[in-house]
Amino acid sequence: MYRIGSGIDFHRLVEGRDLWLGGVKIPAEKGALGHSDADVLLHAICDALLGALALGDIGHHFPDTSQEFKNIDSKILLERTISLVWGKGYEVVNVDASLCLEKPKIKPHIAAMQQTIASILKVTIEDVGIKATTMERMGFVGREEGLAAMATVLLKKRG
Ligand SMILES: [Zn+2]
Repeated sequence: MYRIGSGIDFHRLVEGRDLWLGGVKIPAEKGALGHSDADVLLHAICDALLGALALGDIGHHFPDTSQEFKNIDSKILLERTISLVWGKGYEVVNVDASLCLEKPKIKPHIAAMQQTIASILKVTIEDVGIKATTMERMGFVGREEGLAAMATVLLKKRG
């Protein structure tokens, strides 16, 4: 009836790239490096959705060796992932996610991220929890070398 999944993702932060988080472009000095737009939050949610149904991981479904996914908008990856979930007869109950980065401040952007993710997953914004934390200047996140995201999702079999 119910399935739970978890996802985790990391990306390097570099100058000269845009910072996309939760499907929203965030004004920042550095952006995340990756084959796609490197949206660490959407990638963690994709992995949580896939994990809930033991469907493997994002790298298996959207290989970073494929030109098809070069600089791709990760909202498209989330759309494709949720289509797989619906195809298996499941729908999302809720998502809870955490971002780990030193800066910029994420709070002003959380509502836009919730809206973006909720509309793709066909849930309400109350079903999409997003938190953000720094690492108190410790480690790779603290040195602003990278960022991380974790996500948990609950799926329910359609009646
Ligand atoms: Zn990623």
